[in-house]
Amino acid sequence: NFSTTQLQEMDNAHHLHPFTDHAGLRGEGVRVVTGAEGAYIFDSEGKRILDGMAGLWCVNVGYGREELAKAAYEQMKELAYYNTFFKSTTAPAAMLAKRIADLAPTNFNQVFFGASGSESNDTSIRTVRYYWQLQGKPEKHIIISRDNAYHGSTIAATSMGGMGAMHGQLGPMLPGFRHVMCPYDFELKHKGESLEDFGIRAARAVEVAILQEGAENVAAFVGEPIQGAGGVKIPPPTYWPEIQRICKKYDILLMLDEVITAFGRTGAWFAAESMSIEADMITVAKAITSGYQPLSAVLVSDRVADVISKGGEYYHGYTYSGHPVTCAVALENIDIIEREGLIERVRDDTGPYLLERLQEVIGDHPLVGEVRGMGLLAAIEIVKDRETGERFPNEGSAAVCVRDHSIEAGMMMRAVGDTMILSPPLIWTRETIDEAAAICKVALDKAAADLLR
Ligand code: PLP
Repeated sequence: NFSTTQLQEMDNAHHLHPFTDHAGLRGEGVRVVTGAEGAYIFDSEGKRILDGMAGLWCVNVGYGREELAKAAYEQMKELAYYNTFFKSTTAPAAMLAKRIADLAPTNFNQVFFGASGSESNDTSIRTVRYYWQLQGKPEKHIIISRDNAYHGSTIAATSMGGMGAMHGQLGPMLPGFRHVMCPYDFELKHKGESLEDFGIRAARAVEVAILQEGAENVAAFVGEPIQGAGGVKIPPPTYWPEIQRICKKYDILLMLDEVITAFGRTGAWFAAESMSIEADMITVAKAITSGYQPLSAVLVSDRVADVISKGGEYYHGYTYSGHPVTCAVALENIDIIEREGLIERVRDDTGPYLLERLQEVIGDHPLVGEVRGMGLLAAIEIVKDRETGERFPNEGSAAVCVRDHSIEAGMMMRAVGDTMILSPPLIWTRETIDEAAAICKVALDKAAADLLR
């Protein structure tokens, strides 16, 4: 029974937080989150906050699900741990692999498990390189990725990702990664250029990179169907078909990072389905268990799996690959998503309603340059001048101001650069969306009073 202050002091003294300005944190006092139910989190001061980010894009079925706690408890009693190395398996691991293969696009029938999105992306990097080695083409190893992509925090995932600030702190990056522009039309589309043409131009940046590196040296292209932590950047409809054409033409594998988008966020089990992308590898994590347990997976297509399975022992794996408790929780989580029709609800009702409502309530706000969204994933561009798209000086500070007012007004939103993000639990109803839109309006009004003085 520690007080808020005591917990903050312990935390300040001993806890090195991820993605946190440590100098800024000292003495300020972190929020102590003590509980959560449904769509809301609670802090130690008794504040109730609507969670517009589903934790970190993951708590798709909402908080406080006893079914998930029960699945973990029952599995721990039965078999708390066993590995899946050396020809062993467990019932939950086998059942979950089959379940995911059944839900995935038809060319995916093999699943490799890890414990985080970063691990799954490391696995997919190793797997595409190994695939080309087994084909007698070890030189085909370069992976093309995009500016501002976030693929995780391990050294390989940081190198593959496109976040400049992370690269700066890494020192020498791993070789074998090349970055190209992201299809971010709000900032990168030329005046007078159509959205369709912009999508083709952004995709052709990949072709240019392939030709410069030599197709014989390029193993894969990787992208999030919708770039998430980079700012919920939804590509024009021409982008992915052109990427696919380019990958086919030069015999390059297509890796999709669906760590954010899989398990319902875009109104389908996978964004590959909602956006008609035919991939060779798909990485997932987060909502596979709705964040109740750390679990990730790489979905390996038949094309890749057929080669790997003939290659002898693959020296790759994690102690927690296929952990039985995490897999049992994932199975129950998938049952909930199915039983409650959450995906259909996002696709047919709450997804379109979120975008419509945000556009109605804040679309013409003086600070808002654009509202965009797909499924239960939305972004609000914060600008100083709606007409010209001019940003506030000191990149990111205006969005942080909106975020802080939003939390104050009762909703957790995320600020990414000059963009506000919403990625809520899929259990949000029309009423929750009305509440969220109203809070956005309050936060923007207060921020405008601060910023446009
Ligand atoms: N890939 C994407 C698209 C992500 O958004 C994230 C995390 O936010 C990751 C990978 C890394 O996942 P993890 O934090 O579980 O390692």
